[in-house]
Amino acid sequence: MFSYDRDLLIDHLDLWLDSKRVKEFGFISHGHTDHIARHKKIICSEPTADFIKIRLKNPNYQPLKYNQPCQINGAEITLHPAGHILGSSQIKIKSDGISLLYTGDFRISPARTVEAFEYVESDILIMETTFGLPHYKFPSRESMEAELLELCSSALKAGKTPVIFAYTLGKGQEALKIISDAGLPVAADYSILQFIPIFQKYGIEFGKFTTCKKTDLAEKVNILPVQARYQKGFRNSNDKFTIYLSGWGIDKSAQFRLGVNKVLPLSDHADYDELIQLVETIKPQKVYCTHGFDQFVDSLNNAGYKAELLK
Ligand SMILES: [Zn+2]
Repeated sequence: MFSYDRDLLIDHLDLWLDSKRVKEFGFISHGHTDHIARHKKIICSEPTADFIKIRLKNPNYQPLKYNQPCQINGAEITLHPAGHILGSSQIKIKSDGISLLYTGDFRISPARTVEAFEYVESDILIMETTFGLPHYKFPSRESMEAELLELCSSALKAGKTPVIFAYTLGKGQEALKIISDAGLPVAADYSILQFIPIFQKYGIEFGKFTTCKKTDLAEKVNILPVQARYQKGFRNSNDKFTIYLSGWGIDKSAQFRLGVNKVLPLSDHADYDELIQLVETIKPQKVYCTHGFDQFVDSLNNAGYKAELLK
């Protein structure tokens, strides 16, 4: 039903899934740049179409609503929320009595700025397994949000400027919503704020915030793109407390590798338990894993599933 050569291709539909190379016909699971290419024809969710419009000039896309079937060459295609960032979609393709589900990047636990993840039954499951090692267990969302707010409040009380480094789409808005909903003074970089009208269009509201001014970061929480941490004044600075949001924060070495005071494992990906939970819930006949570790595939095979790593 599909073939894999660095990218996934649904053979009989000539439909490429999340290809970074330009194709005739491609499915884009979500708006992160490593999943986008200017395919001649694109299918994606409605919010993803809005994000793509900002990132590509005049894309030719067909936005689909979640759970609304679309027929292509005799196959039935549906999109389902993947819980990764706003608009992120799983795609289910059903033809000749066989169904295939491709998750794209996904997260099962809820977040403030994302549609709730949906379990979808399928015979073949192609899943993203970035954090597929048992020690990648993320703390509860409540405890991580509480820790983020506490780190920012304590820094402000100590006369330091809290700076959060986050991806410009997804985690940037998530951090802004957590901080602004709590009523802390907050400013975000324009690269993050440019997407806010799209979040608002889909009913996600934010508390009070302003636009970051490089010369005036003091007395508020600042949310900046991750690359900004290389700029002068952030590394080993005594007047700032720097926080990076990433699931890799589970690894103790992350804070040194990323050059910040704290890496909080607030992730937009599934952790190990959620990856296992997905397979146990869907019970597919065959599992293919992307972006993962051999050990995760071994553990699925040991548990009686038929699993393979695509690499
Ligand atoms: Zn992503």
